[in-house]
Amino acid sequence: MERKILFIDLSRTRIDEVEVDDYLHTRFLGGKGFCTYFIYKYAQPCADPYGPRNVAVIAAGALAGYAPASGKTCFGAVSPLTGLIHDSYAGEVLGPKLRMAGYDAIVITGKSEEPVYIYVTEEGTEILSADDIWGHSTSKATKVLKERHGKKSSVAVVGPAAENKVRYASVIVDYHRAAGRGGIGAIWASKGLKAVVVKAAKPLPEPALGRKAWREVATKLYKKFQALGSSFSRYGTNNGLVTADKLGMAPHYNFKYPHLGDVGELKGENVVKLAKGPHEVEDQSVFGYMCPIKCSKVVKDEGIKSEYEHLGMLGAADGIYKLMDVLKAIKIVNDLGLDSISSGNVIGWTAESEEKGLLNGVMKWGDGEKQRKLLEEIAYRKGIGAVLAEGVKRASEILGFGKEWAVHVKGLEAPAWDPRGLLGFGLSYATADVGASHLRGWPRPHRPPTDSALKALDSLLYDRDKTSVADHMGTCVFLAYDFPDWSELLKVVYGLDYDTEELRKLSQRTESLARLWALKVGYTSDDDTVPPRWMEPVPKGPNAGLKAFISWEDLEVSKREYYKRRGWSPREGVPLPSTLKSLDLHFAVEDAELLLRKLEPEYY
Ligand code: SF4
Repeated sequence: MERKILFIDLSRTRIDEVEVDDYLHTRFLGGKGFCTYFIYKYAQPCADPYGPRNVAVIAAGALAGYAPASGKTCFGAVSPLTGLIHDSYAGEVLGPKLRMAGYDAIVITGKSEEPVYIYVTEEGTEILSADDIWGHSTSKATKVLKERHGKKSSVAVVGPAAENKVRYASVIVDYHRAAGRGGIGAIWASKGLKAVVVKAAKPLPEPALGRKAWREVATKLYKKFQALGSSFSRYGTNNGLVTADKLGMAPHYNFKYPHLGDVGELKGENVVKLAKGPHEVEDQSVFGYMCPIKCSKVVKDEGIKSEYEHLGMLGAADGIYKLMDVLKAIKIVNDLGLDSISSGNVIGWTAESEEKGLLNGVMKWGDGEKQRKLLEEIAYRKGIGAVLAEGVKRASEILGFGKEWAVHVKGLEAPAWDPRGLLGFGLSYATADVGASHLRGWPRPHRPPTDSALKALDSLLYDRDKTSVADHMGTCVFLAYDFPDWSELLKVVYGLDYDTEELRKLSQRTESLARLWALKVGYTSDDDTVPPRWMEPVPKGPNAGLKAFISWEDLEVSKREYYKRRGWSPREGVPLPSTLKSLDLHFAVEDAELLLRKLEPEYY
């Protein structure tokens, strides 16, 4: 099957099509693999993330359009928050449509002097003026572009927050889906890029083993996932705060309390009462591409989609428990193009700073009106909003207080899952390639952190690899995919024979490249840690007295074992040349040797 990448240089207004070669096809496959590879190869470490040398990538999953719930598309760039290679995901039909147009990914370099958007169809690609939509909210810009190019086009846009270089500005896809994390939206706007529109309906290329064989496998898996159902079918993710609170993992009051025993109005049953029925939703793409679960809950009147991370971070983390307050905040962050997790986290930090008497009149716990005002100020960088737009780590450095209650890892604000309720989850946060992400490995079974994190290491590695493979394939993590399912699909679609070991290598390959990048831009093993808040003993509830790790020493021992298991050097976690060779990453061996010579010469 022929696969192609679009290279777009916005400085020179140049568009090139390049065929995916065998190495890229078999070693990186798509989605996260393509994003990581292109950023590592073409971006410049330590350059200004907002400069023309940063690379923005949009990559459809390898199975986009061929597998149930395969619309998760990877949005990547060097993050303006962390300086790390960042990959964030949004559905639901953009990736499959990109494949229908004939492309697996778009790699965007350079910087346009004037606002532009990229329009991709089966007939070709154009760079068009975005003068008339620059400054528009994401919903207004999406409406204009859908009216111009047709309702069935898929539209990814950035909002005013990105245009004002808020370091956690998101990309919003088809009104409802956010590639929220890491500030990818701000990178788009720094390149003068307002939107990417894809319009295509051509059948996908013929699968290697033919359409009949492919349809049989895809239908079998669809039925299997449908029969298995999902805890998300009823409420979507909207009962997450109830669950997180029970487990002692909620982010109440800027993570001061992982358990309160009361989540106010922020329950799944309350969201569902306000949600439209599936047939009342005009744009069915919100329910995923070939998705048997259809978890989305779109709220009537507000026209917004509510999720747990909204309720956790724009609600509990800011001491807000009234549902209408959170729904209003969701509308604002979506329209302005702000990441809801980072926004809620930064505002929770602000409320705690005010509680401690370090700020005055900015934000009090539970004040929905102040929160909404602050979100606007952040997006337009007005008043203290200009400082908070820098993210919680930089805000605490600029203002000179609050490092102890700034809850982030490597500068990425923590999401709504406190690791003090799950053994090994602190290690997941400390070693995740992008910083504080809850989607880089979830250790199982569920047990409180009363023991060494080493006990959860096997499970963390397994789940990290599984999540990473889902991100390569573009399949939704809410479906019960396992390695044999992807193997079967890769066989019928591409004729590839990938067993579990080969699939797990995909994860190790991208992780090793991301690790090399992190070390090249100056991170060290000391940064593989958790924020002080998560090493404070839990004050009350089922996990009272527990911390993310039983001790700081356990964090050190566990992460060193993690490095060893990944084939990295034991002290600084530099991927060893032998590991890179075994992963077919020969082009990165020289980088590893330079890093070893500098950081851990005994392993050189
Ligand atoms: S389970 Fe939910 S998030 Fe996943 S593809 Fe289906 S609708 Fe989208």
